[in-house]
Amino acid sequence: MPLAPMAPMLRSARRSGYAIAAYNMIDYNSVRSMVAAAVDLDAPLIVQVSVKTVRHWGYRPIASWVRALAEDAPVPVALHLDHCTDVAVIRDCIDAGWTSVMYDGSSKPFEENLATSSEIYALTQAAGVGLEAEIGAIGGVEDDKVVAGDAARLADFDECVSFCEAMPNLAVFAPAIGTAHGMYRGEPVIDYTLLERVAKTTGMPIALHGGTGLTEQQFKRCIGLGCAKVNISTMHKMLFIKGFVDLARDKPDLGEPLPFIAAQHDAMKADVMAMIKTFGSAGKAADAAAG
Ligand SMILES: [Zn+2]
Repeated sequence: MPLAPMAPMLRSARRSGYAIAAYNMIDYNSVRSMVAAAVDLDAPLIVQVSVKTVRHWGYRPIASWVRALAEDAPVPVALHLDHCTDVAVIRDCIDAGWTSVMYDGSSKPFEENLATSSEIYALTQAAGVGLEAEIGAIGGVEDDKVVAGDAARLADFDECVSFCEAMPNLAVFAPAIGTAHGMYRGEPVIDYTLLERVAKTTGMPIALHGGTGLTEQQFKRCIGLGCAKVNISTMHKMLFIKGFVDLARDKPDLGEPLPFIAAQHDAMKADVMAMIKTFGSAGKAADAAAG
């Protein structure tokens, strides 16, 4: 089907109590592995792209890969821009066919984040594109942005409410609730009470960032409280490399590249399938597509 808008998919997910896997793509093979997993499990999917990856490949190649794979898939696939602070990149993604974007103003003071997010909200609403916006500061490393442990900051409840009231049609809201990007050092401390209050009061689908390394129980609890989008990047990157390296170690004389591509694909696909099952979105393609 054509590239899907993210907002109605996430509203359905929130209403029906599951979450949609949002994987950060690396290249064509990585998108292929995600779409294959979603198709096998009849699940909705969000293919998201970091700004660094957009700059590496360019807008048109990424849009054409994802669009072609989505069009051949019987499940809804959204193309989303992850954490972006540059309005020019957001505009270029919208022009190239992205169906949603994230503006990350979380490093700015609240009033400034609200003002800029609101401007981008108006831009995306006019373009018919979904918007994800963030409050608080999610810890860890995302692209070139490093938020050290002591700079990570939980979202403020009252600010969350004002933010969502100002932008009632946000596709998804990302309050910092204690998860972090990259690999966790030690046990993540998730503020479930904050998550529950924000989700209940705003009614928004909530985005769970920093999915790699959370337990099945943590995922399920967050989804039960209102998380409808779960971001996975680090695990996908690790498997992209591992799929290749493991085969090279097992068969050092293999002089043929395609088996390496297949090994990468299969390693990434298995993880996406496992996460889709954990997030409860298997069999939900039609529910998500209905909006
Ligand atoms: Zn994130």
